[in-house]
Parts: sequence; structure tokens; C-alpha cells
Amino acid sequence: MPVRILTQEQVTALLPMADCMDLMEQTLRTLARGGATLPLRTIVRIPGDRGVFGSMPSYMNPPDAIGLKAITVFPGNEGTRYDSHQGVVLLFEAVHGTLEAILDAASITAIRTAAVSGVATRLLARPDAGDVAILGSGVQAHTHLDAMAVARPLRRVRVWSRSGDNVARFIAAASRRHSVMIEAAPSPEAAARGADVVCTVTSSRVPVLEGRWVARGAHLNVVGASQPTARELDSDAVSGARFYADKRESALAESGDFLIPKSEGRFGDEHIVGELGDVLEGKAPGRRGAEEITLFKSLGLAIEDLASAHFVSRRAAEQGVGTVMEIGGLRHD
Ligand code: NDP
Repeated sequence: MPVRILTQEQVTALLPMADCMDLMEQTLRTLARGGATLPLRTIVRIPGDRGVFGSMPSYMNPPDAIGLKAITVFPGNEGTRYDSHQGVVLLFEAVHGTLEAILDAASITAIRTAAVSGVATRLLARPDAGDVAILGSGVQAHTHLDAMAVARPLRRVRVWSRSGDNVARFIAAASRRHSVMIEAAPSPEAAARGADVVCTVTSSRVPVLEGRWVARGAHLNVVGASQPTARELDSDAVSGARFYADKRESALAESGDFLIPKSEGRFGDEHIVGELGDVLEGKAPGRRGAEEITLFKSLGLAIEDLASAHFVSRRAAEQGVGTVMEIGGLRHD
């Protein structure tokens, strides 16, 4: 059977941020309605703290599709020519179980993760939120700026990263795509103070954002740490916010941002107000006033990759994009 292979450039061209945000909204609604099967991801740690290999299988309906993301995360690739996230998404149709497409996973991960933060921001940030802080200057920093610009009209953007060179490179590249003024902040505190929306998109394992810097009424997209022992926020920042998850089970199993303050006795599991999909479906409350701080903890879900792969694969077929190969799948008896 023919299998379509789609590269990083092709996926990026076929998955604009605004479309991906609408798609992620539908995907999270499908999850909330019980239309998805997704076990927790399986992580293989590569010795020497070099990185991890993650396997993320899922089934969803609608669209009726099966998928698997296989991805390596090597944070040490920062500053080299290699992406820190590399891999593929395999897309299967769910009638005969036939492999349909093999897609670059780095681009899907970059876009779908920010798109889900965009959905969270559209849902939970104050309507007038236009002052955005980004902590981190890598791949997710770029796509998060794109997503924030779709979610809200931006007035001001401040970016902090440990390396001033990285910040300068980020601002030069981002300024070619966005007309809003983007400023380099000298510290995470200077970036976060007074911001309406703060996105933490670093590989840090220890807090880069402290609760005492977060303005009343702010919304936080917390994206970086995805292991129980790593976190980007201190305990005050998490306990002072209304906490939303992409999936409750993932937050309880994988999020150091949640589990570390919980282990200190700051709160219990009831601190999770709900999943984003539940808020979209009206099953959990959203923001209740202009003074509340809301926090979305992103861990990333296999169905976000699957839905993106399905969408891109359909568009690619319509437009004749990609390389099509016969790979098998038919009986020869
Ligand atoms: P990149 O490698 O492109 O960027 C990493 C960023 O983290 C850089 O800006 C780097 O900048 C910063 N950084 C690294 N170490 C530290 C540190 N100790 N303290 C503060 N900043 C640090 O990665 P991505 O942008 O692709 O990913 C960012 C994070 O998001 C990662 O943790 C990644 O695993 C996570 N992620 C989460 C997903 C989800 O679904 N929730 C999906 C994809 C990624 P500098 O060196 O200048 O400080």
C-alpha cells in the first residue's frame, strides 16, 4: 500500500498555527468526550544522561485514526546543528490498519505543543491579555510566540534566556515574522513582572519562574519540564494558581511542577481544576475573574501528534505533496 513520507519543511508548510489551534481544540474535546485511547508514554533513558527515547501510541475517533510518535529528546543538542527533539509520527488508517504516512515529528511537536498552549491562552487568559513574557529562546519559544499572537492581539513581548546571544538570535528571527516589539529581558523576573501571559519553554530542571513575580490575573503556560523530578516553577507559583492539565493522569504521573509542591504538602490532587478539554466542553470551570492566576501545565499528548499527522496527511494528499512509496500491507497468497 502507498505510504506518504512528509519532511520537516512540508509539515511546517501544511500546518499553520491558526489551523493547528483549531485542530487541537477539536482534539481536546474528543478526549473529553471519551473518544481517545492513549496510555502514558513509555520512556527509555539513554545512559550517561544523554537523553530519552519516547514512544507515544494512540487511537482516536474522530478522526478514526491510529498513530505512534517515536521521538528522541537530547537536550545536549542545544548549540549544535541537531534538533533536541527528533523522530517520526506513523499514521495508520483504522479500517484495515494500513500504514498511511510517515511524518517528521520535530515539526509536529514544535507546532502542536504551542498550539495547545494557544488554546489554553484563548480559553483561560484575560480577554485583554496582550503583554507576553517568554522564558526560553529555543524551538518552542518561536512557536509559542506564533501561538500567543493567534490567541490574543499582542502589545508587548519580553524574552529571557540564559544566553544573551540566544535571545538576540531569537529576537532577530521572530521580528521578521511579527510586527510587535520584542524586548530582551535581563532576568526571568524582569520578563515576568507585570506580564499578562508567561510561557516557560526551557529545558531547565529547576525553577526559572517564582510565584512572587507573577502578576495578578496572569495566565501561565508551563511547557518545559516533563519528568516528576524536574520543574520550571517554584511551589508558590503553582500553589497560587488555578491548575489546568492537558490530561490529569499525565500531570499526576509526570509533572514535577505539580508533584514537588504536592510532596511538600502545599496541595492535594484536587488542586487540578480540570483538563483543557473539560473546560472546552463546559464540564470544568474556566477563569472566574480578572484577578485569578491560571496555569496550564503541558505535558504533550499522543493524540495531539496523531490528529496533526492526520490533518497534514490529508492536506498533503490533496495538494500532491510528499514522497509516496509502496511499503507492503497487501496479502500475496
Ligand atoms: P530547545 O533545545 O530548542 O530550547 C531549550 C531552551 O531551554 C533554550 O532556550 C535554552 O536557552 C533553555 N535552557 C536550557 N537549559 C536551561 C536552564 N538550565 N535554565 C534555563 N533555561 C535553559 O528545546 P525546545 O524549545 O524544543 O523545548 C523546550 C522545552 O519544552 C524542553 O524542556 C522540552 O522537552 C519541552 N517540550 C515540551 C513539550 C510538551 O508537549 N509539553 C513538547 C516539546 C518540548 P539558553 O541556553 O539560552 O538558556
